[in-house]
Amino acid sequence: MRLAARVQDLRKVYRLGDEEVHALRGVSLDFPEGDYVAVMGPSGSGKSTFLNVLGCLDRPSSGSYFLGDEDVAQMDDDSLSEVRAQRIGFVFQSYNLIPQLTVLENIEVPLYYRGHITAEDRQRCRELADLVGLGKRLGHRPTQLSGGQQQRAGIARSLVNNPRFILADEPTGNLDSVTTAEILTLLDNLNAAGKTIILVTHEDDVAHRARRIIRLKDGVIQTDQRIRELALQG
Ligand code: ADP
Ligand code: MG
Repeated sequence: MRLAARVQDLRKVYRLGDEEVHALRGVSLDFPEGDYVAVMGPSGSGKSTFLNVLGCLDRPSSGSYFLGDEDVAQMDDDSLSEVRAQRIGFVFQSYNLIPQLTVLENIEVPLYYRGHITAEDRQRCRELADLVGLGKRLGHRPTQLSGGQQQRAGIARSLVNNPRFILADEPTGNLDSVTTAEILTLLDNLNAAGKTIILVTHEDDVAHRARRIIRLKDGVIQTDQRIRELALQG
């Protein structure tokens, strides 16, 4: 069983003036490839901090983080940005689309860091738009889309560099139940195709779509429960 990621004794301390907030207080977990993990827990329990560290958007204060075989915690900022761009897809609750750009351009954003975009890249972005059901909305701007459509664009953008690891922080938190179901079906399909997914949610029915449920409280793991086998790896 190959591991997509492993964290050991991960800690995160935020310092605000002379006050310290211990957001993660020693988290150790293995994430096998093909897993689909829901992270639950009360507000303030450290879920977003954990996901941001996994997504290389933030660094741990101590502990180790291996992404595949690479020790991410030891990397300099440039290497970390590269790992983030190439190997991780991040989906945000509030979509984080750029309002001035069209759907297609938003999906292309992760490619801009490469310096140049080839015709094949553009074609691939169109295919991703099709995959998430936005093939007929390529020229729309985010304000011309529903919340569900914006999140579809966010998911397509997260897939541009073909990452094996997808992280989603309350991706359906702003969506109604019908649209939530559509987004969850998209995530199911990505996981069935072999992507490893970690999703933060506070909704039980969303969490039960996953293969494993982890509960955090006060920065530590309370429970880690497998509810389905891993997705088969191709
Ligand atoms: P959750 O996503 O589970 O609601 P967070 O990871 O956002 O929890 O926050 C965990 C704890 O860390 C909270 O007490 C929060 O106030 C604190 N925290 C989060 N981000 C910061 C920050 N940038 N600076 C200071 N404290 C923070
Ligand atoms: Mg949060």
